[in-house]
Amino acid sequence: MTAPYLGNPKRTIEVLQKYEFVFQKKFGQNFLIDTHVLDKIINAAEITKEDFVLEIGPGIGTMTQYLACAAREVYAVEIDKALIPILEDTLQDYDNVTVLNEDILKVDIRKLAEEHNQGKPIKVVANLPYYITTPIIMGLFEEHVPIESITVMVQKEVADRMQVGPGTKDYGALSLAVQYYAEPYIVANVPPNCFMPRPKVGSAVIRLTRHKEAPVKTVDEKLMFRLIRASFNQRRKTLVNSLKNSPELSFSKEEIQAAIAACGFSEGVRGEALTLADFAALTNELKK
Ligand code: SAM
Repeated sequence: MTAPYLGNPKRTIEVLQKYEFVFQKKFGQNFLIDTHVLDKIINAAEITKEDFVLEIGPGIGTMTQYLACAAREVYAVEIDKALIPILEDTLQDYDNVTVLNEDILKVDIRKLAEEHNQGKPIKVVANLPYYITTPIIMGLFEEHVPIESITVMVQKEVADRMQVGPGTKDYGALSLAVQYYAEPYIVANVPPNCFMPRPKVGSAVIRLTRHKEAPVKTVDEKLMFRLIRASFNQRRKTLVNSLKNSPELSFSKEEIQAAIAACGFSEGVRGEALTLADFAALTNELKK
């Protein structure tokens, strides 16, 4: 197998010019042009020759070449059909890669894991298109796709949001959801000059390692996430008012007040002060 040869500005420009490629802003196209960053991502993902890896948005195949060398099999899903002939060219020496021209949000990833990895947990690695980071990550977790880890490049601010706790301005529904399903770890901060074209914001590589068991126990996971969403949709309001006003919930003010009291929270508490364990306790009280 050929060693990865993309990942630097010169080679990237050569490929782009050969195919007269035009960047599509709507697809969040910022291609990696730094081999150190690529090495960091591959190392953090801890890929072995046993692994089936799903890559979201291969672009011109830069990271795909690295993944192909490290993994048993790589499945790369790319929405932009203009990139498909480029990928056929840059990945021609890698016989363990399949490219699918599709929107990742429409792919049945659970089926993919069944067909290519006997239903065993897969690894997801990507330099994500930033406009759909949250739906992609939440989709992977909420659909209960068998996942071992997700190692992705995201906007720095989003990486921060995923790993903070209560009492910070970045704390929100994404923090709680990510931490319910996985252990987040920021691998590296990545400046705009590592991409072509340069994004306007800083980026970070974050690894989310799926928990074997959820860190808190709740009798109704769906209800817990409805409570979390309602609390942060109106984060300046008290918890009672946010939950009472939510169209997703149908508890009376009295029921909510009673549950809050039973959990030992103060009457005027706001959702942003609650931990994951607090939300689980509140869910269990409201279910009683
Ligand atoms: N992996 C390449 C790299 O690191 O150089 C490209 C990363 S670029 C940030 C994001 C890639 O995702 C682009 O190739 C873009 O066309 C693709 N993309 C955007 N939206 C997508 C979607 N909904 N499904 C699949 N791929 C998508």
